[in-house]
Amino acid sequence: MQNPINEIENQALQEIQQAKTAEDLEVVSIRYLGRKGLLTAFLRSISSLPEDQRPAAGKNANLLKIKLEKAIARERSNMAADSANQPTGIDVTLPGRRRKHGSAHPVTQVLDEICGIFMRLGFDIVEGPEVETDYYNFEALNIPKYHPARDMQDTFYVSDNIVLRTHTSPSQPRTMEKTDPPVRIISAGKVFRCDSDLTHTPMFHQIEGLMVDENISFGDLKGVLTTFVHQFFDQQTALRFRPSYFPFTEPSAEVDIQCVMCRGEGCRVCSKTGWLEVLGSGMVHPAVFENVGYDTARYTGFAFGVGIERMAMLKYGIDDIRKYFENDMRFLGQF
Ligand SMILES: [Zn+2]
Repeated sequence: MQNPINEIENQALQEIQQAKTAEDLEVVSIRYLGRKGLLTAFLRSISSLPEDQRPAAGKNANLLKIKLEKAIARERSNMAADSANQPTGIDVTLPGRRRKHGSAHPVTQVLDEICGIFMRLGFDIVEGPEVETDYYNFEALNIPKYHPARDMQDTFYVSDNIVLRTHTSPSQPRTMEKTDPPVRIISAGKVFRCDSDLTHTPMFHQIEGLMVDENISFGDLKGVLTTFVHQFFDQQTALRFRPSYFPFTEPSAEVDIQCVMCRGEGCRVCSKTGWLEVLGSGMVHPAVFENVGYDTARYTGFAFGVGIERMAMLKYGIDDIRKYFENDMRFLGQF
């Protein structure tokens, strides 16, 4: 008769090999090593063997127990590794998943478009700091301290001499200090004013333009801005220049365009006037030239400022400026 311990060993190893799942292995483990398992029963029966056979039988049985435990553990880890490498049922008939593409924010799109128009007219782009000194934001632009014009803009003060720029105009003196005429620049970016309602946000975007050379006249100003409006809206859009006041230009003009919603008939957007105010402009004040050391007898120039959000609202018929900054994808995805 075969030694019972060898019989248990052969049978157990064979079953471990044949086990296909972790559950199968568990069954084998219980059958041999469990409380009522075959090997456990054999260990218990050793006490009934003749005394001289007990030590050898006990030793062999314990060695087998360790061997089986190791074999089961090894098989279990092989199974785990296999299942991690298995592809988990790919259904090749499923439709592909589209990756969502981001798109430029409507303000960025309009900004790029306006910059493009002026670059084709020969303007260079310059940038300036958003945190600006009082000097460049006000004094260099002919707005000394205590000048009533400071009340025209609700300024965020960082300290007595540092502000969040209230317009992109500081790029004018900053550029002119470094460059001799002719100057032909635009400067776009964020500006900040302490203001918030349907048509105002504390941060908005502006584009500033400046052209300085000999013999620059108001006619050049009208020509450049008319070309800009015709390219941004369309050739049929009429313009009108209304006398206005800015401390850094003289004479100054607000530019109105014929209402793009009603074509001048009069509607809610244009308050029944048929006109929309879109730009501030004027001939550069001689005091601004003096501050940067330009010869006022030789050079003249014009400057203008455009609100980007306002232009985008008119172009796309948006009625609330705050929608730009609420990050609602349903709104932003339309552009
Ligand atoms: Zn209208």
